[in-house]
Amino acid sequence: MAHHLRFRQIHLDFHTSGNIPGIGLGFDKDEWIHTLKDAHVNSITLFAKCHHGWHYHDTKIGKMHPSLGFDLLRAQFDACKEADINAPIYISAGYDDITMMEHPGWKNIFVDPKTMEVRIPSNLRAGFHRACFNSPYLDHLIEEIQEVMEQFPNCNGIFLDIVKQPVCACEHCMKVMRENGLDPTKYEDLVICQQMAQERYFKMTTKAVMEIDPEMPLFHNGGFVKPGNQALLNEYFSHQEIESLPTGGWGYDHYPLAAKYAQTVGMDHLGMTGKFHTTWGEFGGYKHPNALRYECSAMLAYGSKCSIGDQLHPCGKLDSSTYRIIGKAYSEVEAKEAWCDHVNSIADIAILPKQAVEKDTNRDESSDVGVGRLLLEGHFLFDIIDLNADFGKYRLLILPDAVSIDAKLKKRLDTYMAKGGRLLLTGTSGLDKDGQPLFEMGAKFDGKNPFAPDYLLPIEKLQPPDVDSPMVMYLPSQRMKVTKGTSLGVTYDSYFNRTDHYHFCSHQQTPYPPDQSGYDSGVQFGNIVYLAHPMFAIYRGWGCVPVAQYLRKVVSLALGEPPRLTCNLPSAARVTMMDQPSKKRSIVHLLYAGVLPRGGASTVDGVQVRGNGMVIEELLPLVNTTVKVKPLKAVRKATLEPQGIPVLFEREDDGYISFRVDSFTCHQMVVLHY
Ligand SMILES: [Zn+2]
Repeated sequence: MAHHLRFRQIHLDFHTSGNIPGIGLGFDKDEWIHTLKDAHVNSITLFAKCHHGWHYHDTKIGKMHPSLGFDLLRAQFDACKEADINAPIYISAGYDDITMMEHPGWKNIFVDPKTMEVRIPSNLRAGFHRACFNSPYLDHLIEEIQEVMEQFPNCNGIFLDIVKQPVCACEHCMKVMRENGLDPTKYEDLVICQQMAQERYFKMTTKAVMEIDPEMPLFHNGGFVKPGNQALLNEYFSHQEIESLPTGGWGYDHYPLAAKYAQTVGMDHLGMTGKFHTTWGEFGGYKHPNALRYECSAMLAYGSKCSIGDQLHPCGKLDSSTYRIIGKAYSEVEAKEAWCDHVNSIADIAILPKQAVEKDTNRDESSDVGVGRLLLEGHFLFDIIDLNADFGKYRLLILPDAVSIDAKLKKRLDTYMAKGGRLLLTGTSGLDKDGQPLFEMGAKFDGKNPFAPDYLLPIEKLQPPDVDSPMVMYLPSQRMKVTKGTSLGVTYDSYFNRTDHYHFCSHQQTPYPPDQSGYDSGVQFGNIVYLAHPMFAIYRGWGCVPVAQYLRKVVSLALGEPPRLTCNLPSAARVTMMDQPSKKRSIVHLLYAGVLPRGGASTVDGVQVRGNGMVIEELLPLVNTTVKVKPLKAVRKATLEPQGIPVLFEREDDGYISFRVDSFTCHQMVVLHY
């Protein structure tokens, strides 16, 4: 069921309280079409059923919104089809408030993993109540899906939302646990039951859709587009939608890193931002158009199609300001998309993150985020992979900080290195559970350093430009002494750890004594570079610039040979390189915007309320960008696109070429034709 996505999509939320009158009365077919067409939209996800549980079409299974007097979805859908705008259909899966009120026994009863206390859904706070997929609710959902597909057989996909089953101790889960010999007082057994419900959801919903139309595009939204999930994605998904609203809690570096995994799965993908100043459900919240221009440009640069989230007003009329702003971004996307379809990323490096080898990691594992940011800011060409990937495609694999290596992975890594592959390991990656190395690293290991923080002094060639003194490392290192390898630096312990009133110094960590600890901070041996600190979690946590400068040098050292691409862009700018083999060309994307901290938490009547920290307002040009790159094939000519302006380039040694872009603002594609 592989699905080729269009470039300019809207995800049109329509979660609408039953207390609001006059639903859909402002809908006007011609205005609807013109608003979308003027905003260059060519696909829009429309609502069959919202989180409140109301339907917006003629339904015999569910309940139509009490203030809706006609089939709104049909009207929206037919208008879209008339204008050649794709219309996938949205069905809220995990949230369905109306059904939960009618069947309280179908609600998810969440269990806190730390205290094992159950959390009963409260009627005293505003918010949706969640269903359990082990309950008969799932059969009800299946009937709703079937009804929608029968009514709209020519829809362009089914989007099922809130599909992640939480841990649950409802009556139905207790029955499943009894029948399967699981002990509900053990958290790990609750997790097994949760996984059974999750699998039940995936199997039943996907079967329901495929039985009616095996070609129907299908997406399950619940944070499943991440390393380690490739088998799941291949079995149940037709494409990937990366929900990542930069100002809605995800931040500006979540989407690029998610896309760097999505692009390795071999399925079309889209990036999903929002038109909101903050996040979903924000009526009257707007971004500066430049923010959407940047966010959509980033989607193109990382090989995605674009989707912008909006919420339709209950009256059914699209908001003119929203679509004016979206149009500014989507007119640019339309001009650029010819260079962005059917592309593959070109990468020197792959990150094999903790997420790829361990289940139930956080969305933002600090080490994984830290190494991703470091490579983005250092302008390295990289992918993020899981165990399904072909390691041999990459010159360097990075296993950040705490990636456990089992016998099978160890064997694969040995084979990879025997063929010339290189490894960068940090922290406990590459060590067994006793802290001893799994690979010959030319060093001996002596357990975890009891001093934390400690200090790191790199060898001269790895030092940051302005610092030749020991730098504080906030998280504990492994004690490692180089034997046969090359030392990459030394560590200093502190006089003592900051513990209590009798052991502390000044405002923060205790300083280091004049003598080194006797241990090394890193080693290079053969094809392996190892650093004794969890450097990427440290960088994620503290963001220290000299530490980044040091780590960029370490990555270059670990690569062994010069990177395929180097440039003089500032660290806030991004670069990617995509190949478009069907058009015999590769595309270097240059991308830059200044993300500014503006909002934040605010206090109203003594109560702290959530704010938003980040905005993009002006887009400033970058001048005199120089790029040196080794193309995949000999370059015939180079052009700036979509402007069509030729770029002069010089041929360098070893197959490299170099060129200069005098000035660009936000996003520039440099196309290398071969
Ligand atoms: Zn349950």
